[in-house]
Amino acid sequence: MTVSEGSAAIPLLSVRKLTKHFGSFAACSGIDLDIAPGEIHALLGENGAGKSTFVKMLFGILDPTEGDILWNGERVAIRSPGTARTLGIGMVFQHFSLFEALTVAENIALSLDPKIPLAKIAEEASTLSKAYGLPLDPKAHVADLSVGERQRIEIVRALLQNPKLIILDEPTSVLTPQEADKLFETLFQLRAEGRSVLYISHRLEEVQRICDGATVLRHGRVTGRCDPKRETAASLARMMVGSEVAAVSRDTSAALGDVRIEVAGLNADARTPFAISLRDINLKVRAGEVLAIAGVAGNGQGELFDALSGEYPVTSNEAISIRGRPVGRLGINARRLLGAGFVPEERHGHAAVSALPLSDNLLLARSRSDRKAFLGGGALGVIRHNAVRAATRRICEAMDVRKSGEDPVAGALSGGNLQKFIVGRELDRQPAVLVVNQPTWGVDAGAASRIRQALVDLARAGSAVVVISQDLDEIFEVATNIAVISEGRLSASYPAGEMSRERIGLLMGGVHDSTQPGAVHAH
Ligand code: ADP
Ligand code: MG
Repeated sequence: MTVSEGSAAIPLLSVRKLTKHFGSFAACSGIDLDIAPGEIHALLGENGAGKSTFVKMLFGILDPTEGDILWNGERVAIRSPGTARTLGIGMVFQHFSLFEALTVAENIALSLDPKIPLAKIAEEASTLSKAYGLPLDPKAHVADLSVGERQRIEIVRALLQNPKLIILDEPTSVLTPQEADKLFETLFQLRAEGRSVLYISHRLEEVQRICDGATVLRHGRVTGRCDPKRETAASLARMMVGSEVAAVSRDTSAALGDVRIEVAGLNADARTPFAISLRDINLKVRAGEVLAIAGVAGNGQGELFDALSGEYPVTSNEAISIRGRPVGRLGINARRLLGAGFVPEERHGHAAVSALPLSDNLLLARSRSDRKAFLGGGALGVIRHNAVRAATRRICEAMDVRKSGEDPVAGALSGGNLQKFIVGRELDRQPAVLVVNQPTWGVDAGAASRIRQALVDLARAGSAVVVISQDLDEIFEVATNIAVISEGRLSASYPAGEMSRERIGLLMGGVHDSTQPGAVHAH
């Protein structure tokens, strides 16, 4: 009340010309950004835009190459997270920094003054968690907690320092829609108390829902400033990616054909203590169909992909069939020979060898029968390099792979362009069945739309396609039918038109209730 008009106009945080170079690469270039007290400000940008780099400078983890940070109008040097916390900046990281073997309270204590007794920390954490709707048991071991609960620890840890500004780096990428809604309520409460929030995301819808202002980054530069509520999803996307993103077109009326891939009563024990066991998985995908499998990361997606692809054959040969042939115990090449194609989640090292040219990466991915077109007449093992190069060119043209030079090494392509090549490499075989895991993870919006369209077109041309994805927008863009994987179990599949985000969210959390610690506090 006593604040004069002049000082009320001073932003809590002002950043001027903030720049960060890694060697000769500029991850952030001349970024200007202001956040007012009580504002939820979005920092929006595709993967690799420089968002995390930017906030690491605000939190004293990275030293700026150039530029100024002003806090309440005064220049500050934030040399460590300790300095940031003392100023009143709290941070919730994209990748949590928690010790699994310790309890919630012990983890929180690690970032505080070691002289504060643990019982006091536990009490304060518990008070804060109640006050902000972040149910948490201070005595629980982190190893037993869900991802959503772990995030609450990070938030409570930040709140214990009574921050003026809280930075959250892609907080909803690990949450179900319901958990995200709860988080938004907490953020609104923080805003009502006059605190500011810097909210990092590449999800347009949630930014429009919760943020008062937005700064958009592309390739480390500011490409837009706006009130997201006054923008359309299309105009925000344009600032993010620099061009219109084509909407995926599809035709849902086409009749489906024969069953191409079927899983019946598949069980597979976890291969490591950190893996998920698959339990009684059933699915059936027909020619002309895209089955999209939704789920929060770490619920058995990788394990299901490995079982379907034969990367790790399962014990029952009958549990999986491709075009009517039992293949459960067969390896990946035998399944490819039946006309199946597979695109794993990991681009580098798994789907492609970074140090090798695209043409070699093409040849390596072909099983013996596919490779025939590339082998010379008489002498076996002679590679027809012209044929390999022509196929490489064809794939790059079909998928609009942008590259420098004719046949660069895979590692020289940006993530989105390498992913287009990897998907195109499978499409070029015109597979009868295609299974892809997280096809556009970390890929820019333009490349993502190209890949989704290719998957839809493949099904339209008569293939059966399985798309495993965490991205609900992607699920709805490509799916004929939708199923949800949660804790190693797969739901029934439902026509995409009958599914809502709400329902998917419920299925994501529906198998058991450990993600609802609210019950613990109900008494
Ligand atoms: P975002 O959070 O928007 O996805 P990042 O800030 O993580 O983007 O990364 C921006 C760019 O900077 C990326 O191209 C990334 O590879 C690069 N980068 C990030 N950290 C480093 C680092 N420590 N060394 C070299 N390059 C980095
Ligand atoms: Mg990031």
